[in-house]
Amino acid sequence: MAGQINAFEMAQKQFDGVAKQLKLDAGVSEVLRWPQREYAFRIPVRMDDGSLKVFQGFRVQHNDARGPNKGGIRFHPAETLDTVRALATWMTWKCAVADIPLGGGKGGIVVDPATLSVREKEELCRGWVRAMWKNSGPRNDVPAPDVGTTPQMMGWMMDEYSRLVGQYTPGVFTGKPVGGGGSLGRTEATGFGVIYTVREAMKRRNLDPKKSVAVLQGFGNVAQYAAIGFVELLGGAVAGVSCYDRHDKKAYTYTKKGGIDPRFLISIVDQYGTIDKQKALDSGYEVGDGDNWIGLEVDVIIPAALEGQVNAETVKKISKSVKLIAEGANGPTTPEADEYFKKNDIFNIPDFLCNAGGVTTSYFEQVQNDMNFYWSKDEVLQRLDEKMTSAFNSVYDRSEKEKVYMRDAAYMVAIDRVVKAMELRGWLTGSA
Ligand code: GLU
Repeated sequence: MAGQINAFEMAQKQFDGVAKQLKLDAGVSEVLRWPQREYAFRIPVRMDDGSLKVFQGFRVQHNDARGPNKGGIRFHPAETLDTVRALATWMTWKCAVADIPLGGGKGGIVVDPATLSVREKEELCRGWVRAMWKNSGPRNDVPAPDVGTTPQMMGWMMDEYSRLVGQYTPGVFTGKPVGGGGSLGRTEATGFGVIYTVREAMKRRNLDPKKSVAVLQGFGNVAQYAAIGFVELLGGAVAGVSCYDRHDKKAYTYTKKGGIDPRFLISIVDQYGTIDKQKALDSGYEVGDGDNWIGLEVDVIIPAALEGQVNAETVKKISKSVKLIAEGANGPTTPEADEYFKKNDIFNIPDFLCNAGGVTTSYFEQVQNDMNFYWSKDEVLQRLDEKMTSAFNSVYDRSEKEKVYMRDAAYMVAIDRVVKAMELRGWLTGSA
């Protein structure tokens, strides 16, 4: 989290603003501005050097009115209960806006995964499941990968849960490896989903993708496929990406005249997500300061790293040429930066709409796991495109109808759906 920004305060502030506009009942607001359940636990792991180390773990279940809680698990050294609360809350809105029958959850462990051996990682994953399995399950709470976690980790976690309950239960974790219960297309899903919403936004705003240039912050799973999608699906160019370098403990911005080649950059990323700087330089890339990305003269900016990156300070560096911001990350934009976008008529595709492609394909994965029948990659991506397009259009139409900012419109669509589910289940009338 950048500076003093608290992600959960930010999530509550966003919600409160829209709850007021919707004239939501004060009691209903109180239900929705806090998670339903929170778990904090400690996970002991025997390390390779023989010592026993204890890690802090979390799981927050924000709201399950529309279906089982759903959301990733992050491995990050700066993880806190408040970040997990914020991310769980955003998952509720994300699943609702994508109109998939799932609630909101998020988990985390305070750890830098790059410091662990493969065996230690597996132990930590299995330890997380031993702490949480009684409160997880395909009809209860279904985690997935997020920052710092991978399909392989989901495979181990699914295995641990299956051992504990005594039966193969693939639908308890999503984002599993293909061949181990995973879905084709899940790897591309979040990044491509971002691009489907960018395509729709450009149609509505009369922008030509083929004449557009984008820059991305981050080069993890979401940014990699968003970059590929911007070039290969939309025919645009990507001027640069910023990427954290774990050796130098700082980020760099990689640019190239005429645009970067995302597939080449992916080929020189190590298993922890660091681009090989030397190889990039040898191939004609320029390697600049990590903060440079936000000031590049482009049409589209895609923050796809961590929360709080586009804030009161950094927003001032954005070039006048920028017309669209597509939030690949969760919570990248602070309310102060939102004010700047509103004032300068920069079109925003808000995070829980823009990056809903991952969880939507997680939902497809669960459906396939339940049927024990698997779809082709084309079928998955086709269904994903339909879902993302329809989610974008319902938010865009709402923003036109109510004359509100896209983030507020997305909240309106999502809150209405969650409140309706709570009403239909009798949560708001009886003794819920
Ligand atoms: N971690 C991803 C997100 O923030 C995916 C969640 C999921 O697939 O459950 O949306």
